[in-house]
Amino acid sequence: MSRISILDHDRCQFKKCDYTCIEYCPGVRMEEDTIIIDEKTKKPLISEELCSGCGICTNRCPFNAINVINLPEALDEPIHRFGQNMFELFGLPTLSERSVVGVLGPNGIGKSTIIRILSGEVIPNLGNWENPFGDWDEIINYYKGSQLQNYFKNLSEGKIKVVHKPQMVDQLPKFVKGNVKDLLSDADERNKFEEVVETLELKNVLNRNMTNLSGGELQRVAIAASFVREGDFYYFDEPTSWLDVKQRLNAVKVISSLAKDGKSVMVIEHDLATLDAISDYIYILYGQSGAYGVVSQRKGVRVGINAYINGFLKEENVRIRKQAIKFSIHPPTPEDEGESIVSYNDLKKTYDTFSFSAEAGEIFHDEIVTAFGSNGIGKTTFAKILAGEIKLDQGEVEEDIKIAYKPQYIVSEFEGSVESYLYMNAHSYGSNIFKTEIMKPFSLEEILDKEVNDLSGGELQRLSVATTLAKDAEIYLFDEPTAFLDVEQRLIAGRAIRKIIESKNAASLIVDHDIVFIDYISDRAMVFDGEPGIEGKATKPSDLRTSMNKFLKNLQITFRRDKETKRPRVNKLNSYLDREQKENGEYYYLKKK
Ligand code: ADP
Ligand code: ADP
Ligand code: MG
Repeated sequence: MSRISILDHDRCQFKKCDYTCIEYCPGVRMEEDTIIIDEKTKKPLISEELCSGCGICTNRCPFNAINVINLPEALDEPIHRFGQNMFELFGLPTLSERSVVGVLGPNGIGKSTIIRILSGEVIPNLGNWENPFGDWDEIINYYKGSQLQNYFKNLSEGKIKVVHKPQMVDQLPKFVKGNVKDLLSDADERNKFEEVVETLELKNVLNRNMTNLSGGELQRVAIAASFVREGDFYYFDEPTSWLDVKQRLNAVKVISSLAKDGKSVMVIEHDLATLDAISDYIYILYGQSGAYGVVSQRKGVRVGINAYINGFLKEENVRIRKQAIKFSIHPPTPEDEGESIVSYNDLKKTYDTFSFSAEAGEIFHDEIVTAFGSNGIGKTTFAKILAGEIKLDQGEVEEDIKIAYKPQYIVSEFEGSVESYLYMNAHSYGSNIFKTEIMKPFSLEEILDKEVNDLSGGELQRLSVATTLAKDAEIYLFDEPTAFLDVEQRLIAGRAIRKIIESKNAASLIVDHDIVFIDYISDRAMVFDGEPGIEGKATKPSDLRTSMNKFLKNLQITFRRDKETKRPRVNKLNSYLDREQKENGEYYYLKKK
């Protein structure tokens, strides 16, 4: 069995503890160099050869920065390691012509690293971190006789062209200047400009400068710019962040059509409905986030996603989660059950260019109501109306209620650490309830010492959702709480929201575009439709099935339930089920007769 020691560089604060790990290490006490100080970084360096795995440093480190892990026996041939005590990757997926390979796994497990390796940005070192920059000949030799041998040979000789849509599209304006039209026409090596502008609905942004785009617009531009390029291998790192459901399915169309054009495509994605619809087969990454990641065998897309949901990979004989994720069929909730927390009659509010109306409705205690609809359709306006912040043109809300609100775009100008942010923004911070119900599910402990400015998208999201939940309110409104979270984090966030609102006898309104997540957490739902930026109409909250049906009918998409796990799956356009469901007006799975 082999053992790795991992040091989390963000967490390690040797100045504050004066090397507690070294002080207590039994090896060091016997005058061995089990842990030494790195001359460059001044951080501790743990020798994996000398380390006995006693775990004392792990327990003693006040910042939980050290992790000593016994690797499963089968893992003895790493593909890459970033450095001593750093993340290690085992295995690589292989791509195939004319197909889309999906990659599914938690944050920090090596997904982006895989793309960096397969696109030639990182030459893998087969775990020999002393020589951090790998050697092409060694890699080519290592993969002798397999498909990856040719891949790396051609890649190293510049014979294949790789196109890469990066994860962090909000960084793009820093590197790409000018307007959208010029960017896309300069990139247009495949003569697909018109087609992609049409499918991704980019006409209105063509004359805009890259610096003036919203997250969703940037994402679509980034997908389009990759799509129009000529390449052999296409890598899309999380293409759906910021996109609404319709835009997600348009992205599926665009990316799938690359495969139809004969390309080899890989997509990393946390939205399970999108991943399901886009992939021909998938690879699952497992291991321990931040420490090591293992690429599973290739799996069929249905079987693979189901295995992920069930938490057990049969071929690998690995349990990746204690329990299966359970989806339910959502029997319609009786309309008059429970006590309402707020009720309103027909509402109207008109701005200069935008008019909003909502059908009379009510929200009950202890329920989660999800809201779906495109961006710019009045969801935030509705929340502000409930909060009594907006003067209505018509109708009234029975009683103004206290609302806690997490906006969609969470830019933080806060200067200071996560801990001081919590101290100032979450008044229950420090209490036991906060610890168990918020701190733990959102894994805030591990980012407490980080600067808020340095947080990744997912970390900032966790912090914002957590802080909102810690507020004192009657309705908790979350605008896209799943953006940048992995599948596990999405479900954990959903469960934490449920627990808190039930304990406070409150309610939650959640705007989201991840259908599987929506299906998992909704008690009831509202549909917002109309024309973004011009007119928005909200239905009253009603059961999920009725709402989904209306929403999907507008989009002309149908969903069925997977027989085994009951998760929602998109039907192929014009498939037998798609046509049957449309004929019956049952867009969200067929009712059992
Ligand atoms: P994912 O895309 O699955 O979220 P990544 O591939 O980005 O994960 O990262 C996997 C792990 O490797 C993380 O713990 C990350 O901190 C670490 N890592 C990524 N790049 C480097 C690097 N250049 N040097 C050291 N560690 C790195
Ligand atoms: P969503 O939350 O669905 O993205 P919003 O409710 O934030 O949508 O906004 C809907 C529309 O109303 C947008 O076009 C927005 O520009 C417009 N709008 C929102 N607030 C105001 C305001 N105070 N004055 C004028 N227009 C507004
Ligand atoms: Mg990544």
